[in-house]
Amino acid sequence: MYQFIQSGDHYILSLDNHVSLMEALTRFCTEQHILSGVIGGLGAINEATFRFLDPATRKYVDKTFAEQMEITNLTGNISQKDGNPYLHVHITASRRDYTCVGGHLLDAKINGACELTVDACPSLHPGRRADEETGLNLYRF
Ligand code: FE
Repeated sequence: MYQFIQSGDHYILSLDNHVSLMEALTRFCTEQHILSGVIGGLGAINEATFRFLDPATRKYVDKTFAEQMEITNLTGNISQKDGNPYLHVHITASRRDYTCVGGHLLDAKINGACELTVDACPSLHPGRRADEETGLNLYRF
């Protein structure tokens, strides 16, 4: 599902073709016991599902784009919820006509490659808590 090399708390990660990005990244964090850190990356995908939270209605609006796209930027963070890795990932992806879509990523399917860096911060222990007002899982320090 993935391959990686490591130097201390710094990882370079390559996800296998055709895998689910979030499933592979979550598995990597679980198997490497990473519960805190930052993620960066790029890649190619043929499907991405985003989630938009409308603050007025507090309803989620999910939208899937099923087409070949380049991840022009992936940025994310790793915290923990109930002892498991909790990933918060946003991406921007460019389409064939070079217009971009982006937002909070629910999942994406790799179609080509996905090259990520993960910098773990094992001395920090950010958690998550459900926030009544926003409807979000906010940091709990
Ligand atoms: Fe988000």
